[in-house]
Amino acid sequence: MIVMLDFDGTIAVNDVCDALVDEFADIQQLMKSLSAGEVTVAEYYRNAFAAIADKCPPDTLTHWLSTQPLDPGLTSLISWLKIKDVPVRVVSDGFDIYIKPLLASVGLDTIPVFANVATWDGHAYVPRFPGATEGCTCFCASCKRNAVLHGIPDDEVVVYVGDGRSDACAVQFADIVFAKGYLASWCTAERIPHHPYKTLADVQRILANILMRNQTRQRRQATLARRNAYLQE
Ligand SMILES: [Mg+2]
Ligand SMILES: [Zn+2]
Repeated sequence: MIVMLDFDGTIAVNDVCDALVDEFADIQQLMKSLSAGEVTVAEYYRNAFAAIADKCPPDTLTHWLSTQPLDPGLTSLISWLKIKDVPVRVVSDGFDIYIKPLLASVGLDTIPVFANVATWDGHAYVPRFPGATEGCTCFCASCKRNAVLHGIPDDEVVVYVGDGRSDACAVQFADIVFAKGYLASWCTAERIPHHPYKTLADVQRILANILMRNQTRQRRQATLARRNAYLQE
């Protein structure tokens, strides 16, 4: 078994990227062109980083990050998974520049992070999308599908925990899905079986139950989806 965790709205209480843009730029204006379909998600991110650069250089960012709460069940879930010898992966369509420091702030800097990258060149943030794929047209800059599939053995049971639009693509390849918010409604509409949850403490409790009852098995639709994705790439 391997556990994939979304970051914004899942590990972090807020969508940290949205909160950041909202704090240091006019998010309504930037979002308008995204919802109107005038820009892609990657272009939105480029515009947003350009808009926050002056007011939020790296030291300001570091300071502001301390205002961003993480799910209270996070460290307990991660320690419990470690005891159970279950690997964890953070899969995000957000950015390493806030994900890594926030994880480090609670001693979780060794968890592998699959996310977009932003570097500060002395004047501005330069966003890059190493996980971007032409093979998928879902609503994201870097489709999480590849992060979910990367290096996963055929018999692995993939657990996915998320909340948003960028998780919708990924959960089709996951065996055990935990969903809240937008993702929960989407899973219901698409008939993807999922466990609704509010906090990561719920995830730990439900997952412990599944393990105890020996109910960790692969989902047929997910196995087929993984196989098809491998054939396509
Ligand atoms: Mg999210
Ligand atoms: Zn996708």
